Amino acid sequence: MELDELLKKFREYSTQDTTLLEYAWNYASESHHDQKRASGEKYFIHCAAVAEILVDYKMDLETVAAGLLHDVLEDTKIPHETFRKEFGEEIYALVSGVTKIETLKFSSRDEAQAENWRKMILATAKDIRVIVIKLADRLHNMRTLNYMPKEKQLEISHETISLYAPLAQRLGIFQLKSELEDLSFKYLFPDEYQSLLAKVQLRYAMREKLLEDFRTEMENHLAGSNVPHRVLSRAKNLYSIYRKMLRQEKPFEEIQDALGVRIITDSVINCYALLGTVHSVFKPVAGSFTDYIAVPKMNLYQSLHTSVMAGTGEIIEIQIRTEEMHRTSEYGIAAHWRYKLGEKGADRHLDEKLNWLRQWIEWLQDISSPREFIESFKTDLELDQIFIFTPKGEVKPLPVDATPIDYAYAIHSDIGDTCIGAKVNNRMVRLDQPLKSGDICEIITRKNSAPKKDWLGIVKTAGARSRIRKYLREHGLPEQ
Ligand code: MN
Repeated sequence: MELDELLKKFREYSTQDTTLLEYAWNYASESHHDQKRASGEKYFIHCAAVAEILVDYKMDLETVAAGLLHDVLEDTKIPHETFRKEFGEEIYALVSGVTKIETLKFSSRDEAQAENWRKMILATAKDIRVIVIKLADRLHNMRTLNYMPKEKQLEISHETISLYAPLAQRLGIFQLKSELEDLSFKYLFPDEYQSLLAKVQLRYAMREKLLEDFRTEMENHLAGSNVPHRVLSRAKNLYSIYRKMLRQEKPFEEIQDALGVRIITDSVINCYALLGTVHSVFKPVAGSFTDYIAVPKMNLYQSLHTSVMAGTGEIIEIQIRTEEMHRTSEYGIAAHWRYKLGEKGADRHLDEKLNWLRQWIEWLQDISSPREFIESFKTDLELDQIFIFTPKGEVKPLPVDATPIDYAYAIHSDIGDTCIGAKVNNRMVRLDQPLKSGDICEIITRKNSAPKKDWLGIVKTAGARSRIRKYLREHGLPEQ
């Protein structure tokens, strides 16, 4: 990648003045001039590649500039003060944020990883863009991992698949998450990767005709209507197919939904109109419809999901969404880089949707041991979530197996603390009974009631666990 190309790509979506980019390009190039990568190439190639990924995600000028400069503080002798004066507070904060995540050194790998998770999330508290740069950095390192010694490849891939990919997923940056996963998969399980790749390519080749027929049929039915739409075929990423094979204990041949299409339109109304058309043309598979437009996922994802039977009896998985939802589903939080947590004048709608992130950050300040942190993080990252309704009809997303206590804390910490009972669908239940998606849950509280220490063995969410611990600690009560 040359500077001209980078500037050209950047100008396609931004009107910001690019002088800073040119300056950062030259500065980084000079700062790293005597360094080489494992591939033998100039080190600066990596910096330019990270900037290119950030431009692919249409990030703002400061983020792209920080991408070019992201290794300057760590890998050159330039003092922090000099750099800060040179580039100002904003760029300095971004680059030093990325550097902090990088330079943590710990004795055991587990502890190190846990601490890295924590730092990473705390960094988002200040600015989500730090994480986006870090993810772009990791993506380029994964793309060029073949130059590393075997042992390093495994270590880095393991960290990527267990830390960076779930984080990208949590932030809703699916495109990046999929690429990180598939690259890690390739190094961690090379044989399985190669064999699955061959099978998937063959299946797609065979099914191209089917998808073509589907598209034609849709076109015919929509010809007279005013519903704008485009149909994209969608390849599931290899690692998610592999995970599904393991989970269902089935060979690839029996995995159904590797065939999918997306239909993109202009408005929410037209999403439902298209759903109607699809269901009137093809037979829907019972129980396959999910409305993530009315009830979005925690990571902002929105779409209508359904599966239908094609004429040949094959099942096609369909996602219907607007252009904006499409962009959010590919880019996630990166699509909203303007947004900073708690910033005045930030998009209120988005602010609400990102509440989980803010709550999380609050809880994190509270957790003292890295191990506890990683345990909580893993639970909260569980991708399967359930939706619980308040008696007023509000929706609270929670992880699978969450209990009424988790739900009580999700509403408010005071409700959690003083909770003495729960009604689910109007019936009293035990506080340790796992909730099911769609349950209407009402919490019964009593003033001056307090959390019990055995709740720690019951709750599933980090938020609840950390609040209970905090309460016990503050009241001098034992946690064991
Ligand atoms: Mn780097």
